[in-house]
Amino acid sequence: MRRAIISDIHGNLEALTAVLHHVRQQNVQEVYCLGDIIGYGPNPCECLQQIMEFPCAVLGNHDAALIEPPREDLSETVRASVDWTKQQLAARLGTSAMNFVRSLPRSFQQADAMYVHGSPRDPTHEYVFRMDIHNEAKIADIFRRFDRVCFHGHTHIPGVMTPNEFLRPSECNNVYTIGTIPALINVGSIGQPRDGDPRACYVIYSDDTVTFHRVPYAADVTLQKILAIPELDDSFGDRLLRGE
Ligand code: ZN
Repeated sequence: MRRAIISDIHGNLEALTAVLHHVRQQNVQEVYCLGDIIGYGPNPCECLQQIMEFPCAVLGNHDAALIEPPREDLSETVRASVDWTKQQLAARLGTSAMNFVRSLPRSFQQADAMYVHGSPRDPTHEYVFRMDIHNEAKIADIFRRFDRVCFHGHTHIPGVMTPNEFLRPSECNNVYTIGTIPALINVGSIGQPRDGDPRACYVIYSDDTVTFHRVPYAADVTLQKILAIPELDDSFGDRLLRGE
């Protein structure tokens, strides 16, 4: 089965629409979402409605902020965006939006792969960055929690981590074949890429092969929408044009 795996949409409808259009041309059977459907972006309702149609989605930390008490590590600007998003969802989608968010699992296991937002040991909140490859204890603890392949997002930086190395997509020609070594695959971000490339990022997983795709979209349109909403910090829009 060919699966598209997307993550970190962050209320960016222009990016999500461009990616789903791209996905439709790839002979993909199913689309999975690894969380952070909302937060930062100007179209939480429209994005959430699309993800509600997917066969599999997991809870991200921004999604969790809608239904949990505020965490200390949330910045003022993120908290303001969560509050605005909550109001939008309640006003326009009623209780269906919150019921859907509450129904999301924190991880999802299939025969051949595990799916989380953050990491296998803290599926909603833990970051796994490239430099963590030097943190032997962290890597060992994370890799003992899944069998062969785990897909995640959260950092908005795509790549393949094995117990030995971290590969950027460009370091494997955007294609990685999973062999006997377990792999933690970061699928990147649809709505707020942070690896210096402003194009939306997602992967297609088929048999044992993971292919990274980049899709251009009208980030300037999303930026203008964010600038027009006082509750959303301007920086959430500015960074879209730079992919950081
Ligand atoms: Zn995110």
